[in-house]
Amino acid sequence: MRGGALGTDNPRMRRASRGTVDLGEVYGRLVRRRGHAGWWPAQSAFEVCLGAILVQNTAWTNVEKALEVLRSRRLLSYDALREMPASEIAPLIRSSGCFNVKARRLRAFLDFLGREFGGRVQAMEGEEPRVLRAKLLAVPGIGPETADSIALYAAGQRLFVIDAYTRRVFARLGAMAGDEPYDVLQQIFMDALPSETRLYNDFHAQIVLLAKDVCTRRPACAVCPLEGVCPRVGVAHTLKWSRMRARESQSGSRRRPRGTSRESGPTA
Ligand code: SF4
Repeated sequence: MRGGALGTDNPRMRRASRGTVDLGEVYGRLVRRRGHAGWWPAQSAFEVCLGAILVQNTAWTNVEKALEVLRSRRLLSYDALREMPASEIAPLIRSSGCFNVKARRLRAFLDFLGREFGGRVQAMEGEEPRVLRAKLLAVPGIGPETADSIALYAAGQRLFVIDAYTRRVFARLGAMAGDEPYDVLQQIFMDALPSETRLYNDFHAQIVLLAKDVCTRRPACAVCPLEGVCPRVGVAHTLKWSRMRARESQSGSRRRPRGTSRESGPTA
């Protein structure tokens, strides 16, 4: 990872823009609000890998409980888990949901790590990013977001992570529709940003934190650091819909607004 300034002090970052959204401006505002995120929250690269798999389709708090169970039993290492069958892993990660499926995915990842890298996550750092990504994607149960999370946060590879939070925030910023294919969005970010692992790491973290705390389903635009540069695409509808629901619940009405359904409200 290259040293030097990160973010608004980086002259290459200032030139990074996509359409009407200046990524340097966006990133600078996010960092000025809360500082660098220091991700991924884990005590080892191996723990990052497990967390990236366990967080599929669940909240991070549920993952933390599963990781804590593994930690309390001294199982947060490749050597400790290398011989353990999925049937024994499953009850230990119950809190993460779909635990039988996730246990099989962890087992598949452990087999991959042993076979390809001798059980050492650090050995992934020497792989070419796209080669590592392709290898990870060949592991059952590992999709693009999980593969890139492991590659970036565990192996320090220059691959930008796209997730539902990225789609939501940047759709509201008017930079994308939000339903583009994963690889298309990843390429947009990687073409627009300086190719720096540390920047990719922190920018994605900033997006996730903003989407969780501020740019939620019902966004708190008044306190958002992006308020001055965000056209809030689709937000007016979101807030109008939310206010109508609030009024309905106060009046006891069960009728929904015309043209909406239980599935058509704001989405994550
Ligand atoms: S101004 Fe509102 S819609 Fe735009 S990023 Fe911030 S919270 Fe989201």
